[in-house]
Order: sequence, then C-alpha cells, then structure tokens
Amino acid sequence: MQQPKATKSYDVVIVGGGMAGLALAAGLAATNLKLALVEAAEQPPNWQASIFNTRVSALSETSRQLLESLGAWSAMEKRRVNPYQGMHVWDGEGTAEVAFDAAEAGVSNLGYLVENAVTQLGLLEAVANQANLDWYQGVEATELSEPASAQGKRSLVLNDGRCLEAALIVGADGANSKIRQLANFKTREWNYGHHALVTSVRMEKSHGNTAWQNFTEKGVLAFLPLNLEGDNHWCSIVWSTHPEQAAELLALDEQAFNQQLAQAFEGRLGKVELSQTRQVVPLRQRHAIDYVKPGLALIADAAHTIHPLAGQGINLGFADTAVLTQVIKQAAADNKPLGSLMVLNTYQRQRKPDNLAMMALMESFKRLFATQKLPVLLLRNLGMKLVNANPWIKRQLIAQALGLRPLAK
Ligand SMILES: Cc1cc2nc3c(=O)[nH]c(=O)nc-3n(C[C@H](O)[C@H](O)[C@H](O)COP(=O)(O)OP(=O)(O)OC[C@H]3O[C@@H](n4cnc5c(N)ncnc54)[C@H](O)[C@@H]3O)c2cc1C
Repeated sequence: MQQPKATKSYDVVIVGGGMAGLALAAGLAATNLKLALVEAAEQPPNWQASIFNTRVSALSETSRQLLESLGAWSAMEKRRVNPYQGMHVWDGEGTAEVAFDAAEAGVSNLGYLVENAVTQLGLLEAVANQANLDWYQGVEATELSEPASAQGKRSLVLNDGRCLEAALIVGADGANSKIRQLANFKTREWNYGHHALVTSVRMEKSHGNTAWQNFTEKGVLAFLPLNLEGDNHWCSIVWSTHPEQAAELLALDEQAFNQQLAQAFEGRLGKVELSQTRQVVPLRQRHAIDYVKPGLALIADAAHTIHPLAGQGINLGFADTAVLTQVIKQAAADNKPLGSLMVLNTYQRQRKPDNLAMMALMESFKRLFATQKLPVLLLRNLGMKLVNANPWIKRQLIAQALGLRPLAK
C-alpha cells in the first residue's frame, strides 16, 4: 500500500465516469457542492463517424428527456442517435409474433438506439466546463475508510496515492464495482447461463426503423436499427445465448458467422455482413440488497445488472441518477448531512422497488422462453397472439418500456 498524499476534501466524490457517473456529475453541476469524479480509463471513449461502436443501448424517452435536461442530448444528436418506431418480437420455436408501433401508442418514437460512447461523449461535453468538478482521470479507487461517526466523512485512496475525503462517495463504477466490494455491500446474484455476443452488421434489406427480436429456447437474438448517413441497412446485434454457443460463434470465420446469423434470424432482413469485430460479454443478474450505507451510495450497474433482452439496464441507471441528484440537492438546500442514512434512504426507497420489479419481469421472460414443454409453448404462443390482437395491452407495454409510467409505487 502506498503512503497516502495530502487529503483533498469534497462534498461528493463519484467513482466511475461511465454513463451513470457522468449523468450524476452533470445533474449536480448547477450547485455549490464541491465534486470530484474518479475514472480509471486514461482516455475518453473512442468514437468514429464511419463505423459503429459495438456497445449500443436502447434509451427510453424518459432517459432522452433526462439527457436533454443535462445538456447532453444535442451533442449526442450531432454525432449519431437512431430513433425507432417499430418493434417486432417473435417466438422462434412457435408461430406467434407481436408487433409494436409508435403511432399506435400515440408517441413519435419507441426509443433511441445510441452507441454508449456517444452518450458518454455528450455527457462529457456537458460537464466539461463545470467549475465545481475536479477530475481524477486514469486512476482507480483502491481503498475506502469507514466513517468516524454516523455522519462523518469517508476517505478514498487512489492507486497513485492521492487521498480524497467526502461527505458522500457514490459508487458508479459498474457491474464489478470496487466500491461495492470495499464497503461489503451484500448482493443477490443469478447466473443467467447466457453470454451476449455483440457486434454490428449490414443487411441486404432495410431495418425499417424497427427493433427485431427472435426468442428461442437457446436465447434471444436482437437486430437493433442503426443509420449511417441516411442508410438504414445497419443493425447492432445482441445475441444472448449459452456460453458454449457464444464461444463457437466467436470462433467462426466471417462468412460462416454471417450465414449462421442470417439463418438464426430466419433470413428476415436478407443476407447479413459483419461490419465490426465480435465481442462476448458474460451476463449475470446482480442486485445489491442495500444501495446505501453511511456516507455511501451505489447507482446503476454498481447496484444492479439485468439481462439486456429488454434494453433497460442504463435506463434504470439513469433513473437512479435522477433520483439521487434530487435527494442530494434537497439535502444540501435543507442543510442536512449528505451522507446520513436519513437522507440516503430516500434514494433507496424510491429506486429499489422499480429496479426489482424490472429484474423480476426479465427473469420471467427468460424462463418463459427457455422452456420447450409443450403446454408452456402453447400458452406462450397464445399469449403473444392475444397481446398482438389487443391494442390496449400493447399501449400499456409501450408506456412501460418508454418509462412513461412508473413500474411500481
Ligand atoms: C450486451 C448488452 C446490451 C445492453 N443493452 C442495453 C440497452 O439496450 N439499454 C439499456 O438501457 N441498457 C443496456 N445494457 C446495460 C448498459 O450497458 C449498462 O447498464 C451501462 O453500461 C452501465 O453504465 P454504468 O455507468 O453504471 O457502468 P459502466 O459503463 O460499467 O461504467 C463504469 C465506469 O467506472 C470505471 N471504473 C470501474 N472501476 C473503477 C475504479 N476502481 N476506480 C475508478 N473508476 C472505475 C470504469 O472505467 C467505467 O468507466 C446492455 C448491457 C449489455 C451487456
């Protein structure tokens, strides 16, 4: 262990400058609070106009509104955002299909496919000239102290020996959160038995601004619509499947992979051609039992990770940041200690039920489609057909996916 250098004092230290950490920093911009952001990566994410990054997220309308209010959305639009109006989901083992349409639900878009790097760069521009924010870039948080009292400050040691102390330290450091581990937050974890293969492709046919998902016994294959300078033949691929199949797909040569992908997608968009490297991401569902301790809060993937099949991970994460921002601002205005459990429990109370409800929903979807038992298969097909024939149910599902209606009180 290095000997800590002189300690610098803050109101809030955010560990992790991914989408969630940056959104929290941007949310606290117009305050008198003294902030620090610690990010392990040495450089901002790399983004090029001529190629798609492999990591892409479907953002809801609620997330778009948050990013707009934080001053990030226009910078994101200047790079690339892909609004989509249709969603087509089908049961690869049966005959049922459900089609969702924005116009049917009375909304302009069902969501926006955005490369994670574009969101991060938009948020980085929004916080670039923030006078109350100090940056610690290319360094990792490695040690964390206990607070001296229930409302005392905690200190954080970085791997270059610098030491920061703060009334509140926020773990926004992703799925393998060091802050969560250092503070011994207990978690519940489920292994989905799925890995996600992600890449991007060009298809023979236009995607029609529609997100396509094929649910099969082995997993879920998503073709998510992207546009390159008006050309709508591009898709981001998220293929969640058994680890063995993911490894096989990764090892295939390009031609064989293209063929398998088109076949698994039942040729709906014609031939496909890889346009990016393939990456495999192991999927785990993890939920911290508590999101807060005296002087500490976890947000987004540091607090919960969820199967990407419904594209909700960072949407839930942004909702965490929006609530925590409000809680911190209110406590500061009322002159309450930012790190007290009385303050932080308000954040946990507001966010935990929604996050848990969404995780339970995704788990049931995954299980529903993982079975080949005939009665379940028939019921599943019947259920999808009923949903497809019922505009009211479809409108409710769309409102929920857009984040226009709370999931749980
Ligand atoms: C295949 C796949 C598809 C997905 N699709 C969607 C989707 O369509 N819609 C959606 O809403 N969500 C989606 N998600 C989820 C989404 O990607 C995550 O929720 C999101 O990236 C989490 O952001 P974050 O800021 O919490 O964490 P991260 O993006 O992991 O950022 C954490 C940051 O902390 C830094 N860090 C880590 N440790 C330290 C340390 N010790 N010190 C300092 N810094 C540190 C890292 O460098 C990183 O920059 C998907 C996930 C996967 C795997």
